[in-house]
Amino acid sequence: MRTGRGTERSTRAPIETCSSYSDRNAAIGEPMAQVSDHGGGVRSIKVPIPDNPLGHTLVYVVDTDRGPVLIDTGWDDPASWDTLTEGLTACGTSAAEIHGVVITHHHPDHHGLSGRVREMSGAWIAMHAADTAVVRRTREARPERWFSYMTAKLMAAGAPEAHVAPLRAARPRALPGLSPALPDREIVPGDLVGLPGRRLRAIWTPGHTPGHVCLHLEEEHPAQLPGHGRLFSGDHLLPRITPHIGLYEDPDDTTVTDPLGDYLDSLERVGRLGPAEVLPAHQHAFTDAPARVRELLTHHEERLTGLLTLLDTPLTPWQLAERMEWNRPWEHIPHGSRNIAVSEAEAHVRRLVKLGRAEAVPGSDPVTYVAV
Ligand SMILES: [Zn+2]
Ligand SMILES: [Zn+2]
Repeated sequence: MRTGRGTERSTRAPIETCSSYSDRNAAIGEPMAQVSDHGGGVRSIKVPIPDNPLGHTLVYVVDTDRGPVLIDTGWDDPASWDTLTEGLTACGTSAAEIHGVVITHHHPDHHGLSGRVREMSGAWIAMHAADTAVVRRTREARPERWFSYMTAKLMAAGAPEAHVAPLRAARPRALPGLSPALPDREIVPGDLVGLPGRRLRAIWTPGHTPGHVCLHLEEEHPAQLPGHGRLFSGDHLLPRITPHIGLYEDPDDTTVTDPLGDYLDSLERVGRLGPAEVLPAHQHAFTDAPARVRELLTHHEERLTGLLTLLDTPLTPWQLAERMEWNRPWEHIPHGSRNIAVSEAEAHVRRLVKLGRAEAVPGSDPVTYVAV
């Protein structure tokens, strides 16, 4: 989903990852502990995400010859803004001095505060065109349009009436993240992102969103760790959880996309880069990116194999989601998270269909899928 609700709630989606979402390094009440120095003119600020088990977004502050550039900005909330500005003060700068903002993807825990930073500083905001298109659509869409679109999608996926009825009755109102800042610069895959005095190259990594990018700081690691520079990985590559991979929901586009296929390709792309260190947008920095990439590829391969077994009998995406393994029993998954779960199930089915390992049962309505 593209609304404010769809995002980090997506990342905390009921995915059966290898870890919990607890953050062992949390240091609540110690403002200075919100800032870490990664060396070589790169620091991070832990900006809280309200009411979310992920805890915080790591906003990176990269020094350039023209002033600091932020990589992501954090959730649009007064407490998050305060943490960001206090963190910038601790870094010896301020929101007014920000030269530019580079956004890994459009989700509001990454892009939420970009508009406020731009108001304070006149900074440019850069984003990949595919995610800028999502931002533009979100700004223009009426909430009712989303509710009717999602209702139709869920019914097509085989959701029971009891699940869909509350959506139909919902009275849409303004939600956070519905008016995200429109970026004014485009991140072009493969190009340097014009940071004065630095070499930051954009690596397009679609999957979690259609325009997700990782950013490769092609400078020697400040502690000379082996490998090629450092990678700001956004939500694409995280040390202890897997990002939500759903569908690129777009009411105006009927293209049958394959986000899971995109994600797996993108994983291999960053694995080949072999960065010395990964600086993700949640949790903590880590090394040995290729090993983490292999873990995630194996995880998804095992999951696809498990789904094929379930698809011995024809199932709708909803029925498949009910039978898949999540981090808690299906009965305990709340309404909103079930929507995310079913889109994740559908993303896996699309991959299997694309690989020729499953197919739609002709004439089924709602459509069911079966292993071939
Ligand atoms: Zn995200
Ligand atoms: Zn995120």
